[in-house]
Amino acid sequence: MKHWFKKNVHLKKHADMRTARRHSGKDLTIFSEMTALAIKHQAVNLSQGFPDFAIDNRLKKLLPEATDKDLNQYAPLAGSPLLLDNLVTFNAQRKNPIVISTDEIVVTPGASYGIYCALAAILTPGDEVIVLEPSYDSYVPAIEVNGGTPVFVSLDGDFRPDFAKIRAAVSEKTRAIIVNTPHNPSGTVWTAAYWDLLWDIVKDTEIIVISDEVYDLLCYDGRQFTSAFHHPKLRERTYAVFSFGKMFHATGWKVGYVLASEELTLAFKRVHQYLSFCVNAPAQYALAKYLEVFDAEANTRLLQEKRDFFLSEFSGLPFTVSAKAEGGYFQTLGYESISDLNDEDFAVWLTTEKKVCSIPVSAFYHDQHNTGKVRFCFAKKEETMLEAARLLKNSL
Ligand code: PMP
Ligand code: GLN
Repeated sequence: MKHWFKKNVHLKKHADMRTARRHSGKDLTIFSEMTALAIKHQAVNLSQGFPDFAIDNRLKKLLPEATDKDLNQYAPLAGSPLLLDNLVTFNAQRKNPIVISTDEIVVTPGASYGIYCALAAILTPGDEVIVLEPSYDSYVPAIEVNGGTPVFVSLDGDFRPDFAKIRAAVSEKTRAIIVNTPHNPSGTVWTAAYWDLLWDIVKDTEIIVISDEVYDLLCYDGRQFTSAFHHPKLRERTYAVFSFGKMFHATGWKVGYVLASEELTLAFKRVHQYLSFCVNAPAQYALAKYLEVFDAEANTRLLQEKRDFFLSEFSGLPFTVSAKAEGGYFQTLGYESISDLNDEDFAVWLTTEKKVCSIPVSAFYHDQHNTGKVRFCFAKKEETMLEAARLLKNSL
């Protein structure tokens, strides 16, 4: 008995060492935390970014079609040939075409994986990666697990990049910069001029741009989506990361793709080969066939209408809108005329007391400083947003 106890104490010490923290991210992400709180308090969940409406029926039906066709074995490393071909066509047919070859695409198990793999492909211990805050919560853990050090640069008050600050953050150790457009949480969209300014900063360095473009199709009010890949020089230095989860409102499918030059793609595959090797084959078939009938403009219109519906329902409430979301799934709102709580406490209070759940914008900063803003997801059924507005109208 005594011996058994000693042995296990010894094992525990080793376990602690083996399972020591490898990154500074939270053990439970803010999105899981707030969704759990919404469920616990039966609040309307406008926090985590997932649509609560059905995906297109045609896409639904393609999944069983794939399994019926016996497409149930490993797909090739880079992606199923049909999906790669259809991605070349889809990108060429954008309003602002992206011209690529199949050798510049890797299909991935989601965008977060794509970002992780890109970092794993290029980082060596001690490398610095510039992160523009507020930023999506997976970036920093992915940098740190891969031996890198994040260097934080704040976006300006309107959530736009400050290129002087970015330039000042570049050091000899800078290996990459992570950019996100349309931006989560603010919804701002990068223009071609921004990419020119970024190129000017990185052109005489070896910095790689990891461009998170998961909301590419959701640019509103006639705005044009401009990828890092549209820039003739920058595209040679870029991993551009996309997500079918966001494109087709099927976040649970967890399939995405990464565009990069052949050289960067080769480096990416060196990691991907041994991490996942390939991606769910029936889903790849379904996504490829759906791309053949998908109406990207109708998709943008649908989400723009949802943004407008959200804004009009919330317009009678004492929130402040600094700017309408230019793209993406989210609208951030100020609440200074409702409460002087910090944003984290306010989001918890709104969930537990008013039964509407949001995300505090502080969660997108490494120091979690109070921003006085919360983020609402409008990728929801009208009835869901209506219910949220009704609850708040009755009690704020
Ligand atoms: N980047 C951003 C900006 C996101 O909002 C999300 C959330 N889905 C992701 C990446 C992750 O995408 P995926 O689910 O395809 O991994
Ligand atoms: N991207 C989603 C959001 O910003 C969350 C995804 C997740 O739960 N990790 O809300």
